[in-house]
Order: sequence, then C-alpha cells, then structure tokens
Amino acid sequence: MIRYDTQEAAEFRERLLQRVRADVTACYQCGNCSAGCPAAFTFDYAPNQVMRMLQVGLVDEVLKSSAVQLCVQCLTCTARCPRNIDVAGIFEDLKMVAVARDVQVPEDAAVFNRVFLENVARYGRLAEAFMLLRYNMLSKHFLNDAELGLPMLTKGKVEVLPKKAAGADEVGRIYRKAMGRAKEKAS
Ligand code: SF4
Ligand code: SF4
Repeated sequence: MIRYDTQEAAEFRERLLQRVRADVTACYQCGNCSAGCPAAFTFDYAPNQVMRMLQVGLVDEVLKSSAVQLCVQCLTCTARCPRNIDVAGIFEDLKMVAVARDVQVPEDAAVFNRVFLENVARYGRLAEAFMLLRYNMLSKHFLNDAELGLPMLTKGKVEVLPKKAAGADEVGRIYRKAMGRAKEKAS
C-alpha cells in the first residue's frame, strides 16, 4: 500500500505528471473543480479532495474511490482550474490505472464499464436493451431500471435483439488496440 509522502508516492506523482502532464503538487485547494463538478454529489471524495489525497500519497485510497469511477469526463474541473491542472485527465488516468491493477472498485462501476465497452466493441454502437440486461445479470441487480426498460421495450423504443452497425468489426479492433495501449500506459 502506498501511503503518505513515501518515495513510492512521489514516484506515482511523477508518473502521473508524465502521463497527463498535470502536476498535482500545483493544486492549492481553491475548490473550484469541486464547485463545478456535476457528478460530485455521487462521489465519496470531491475532486479537490482527490487532488489533496494524491499530494499526500493516498494513492490506493484514490484508486478504490467511487469518485474515480463515477467521473463523467465533462472537463468542467479542468476548464475551471486556476492552476491549469488537467483534473479530468488525472481522473481518466486514475481509472486506467485502477483497471490495469485490477483494483476492487465500488458501485459496480467496473462491471458497468466493461459491459458498456464490450457492447460498443461488439456491435459498433450501444445496444441499450442488451447492455442493460447483461449489466443487471452480472451486477446481480436483476430488476434494476425494469420500470423504465419494460415500457420502452413494449413500445419499441429499444431493440431486444442487437444488430451490428456498419464498421462494427473495425470499432472492435480499435477498442482492443486502445485497451492494450491503455494497459501499457498505466502499468
Ligand atoms: S481547481 Fe485546481 S487548484 Fe483549485 S482545488 Fe481544483 S485542482 Fe486544485
Ligand atoms: S471531469 Fe469528472 S471530476 Fe471533473 S467536473 Fe467533470 S465529472 Fe467532475
């Protein structure tokens, strides 16, 4: 476990700096990133808290946090940071590191992300009903959103049987290549 201001924590910050060209030590905790974050109400740690945790070396806690998994990459934090820190880039990078290290993440986020990406890689687009069914089965929330999904299915708003979009195989190849690169980058 990486803790506090150890050599390992300093090395992690350095790797982060190289990967996303954003230096967490430049953060002076103004809180602008958290004030503008539309998803912070779902996070266990607000974006500025994540930055502070990275400064002091609480890397494992950050990687396990729901904040990293539930960030929607809207880039508001990056746009608002007076220190020009790419907070969103840091969140994205941390998510890749968590996947590469097989970190146990909360909120079934890993299941959701995997099912979403595999769905797009396979069909070349999002096959909503199929993805929802697969997510509910793997996360064991069998009736999750059933009250929304069933009326949509009966009204023909979503397709039961997914169809491949044109170029789906190419999308799949891009996905596999990107995942390989992401793992390499995060290791
Ligand atoms: S906006 Fe920038 S400086 Fe302010 S708390 Fe967030 S990361 Fe730190
Ligand atoms: S990119 Fe993520 S952390 Fe930044 S404001 Fe958007 S949701 Fe919040």
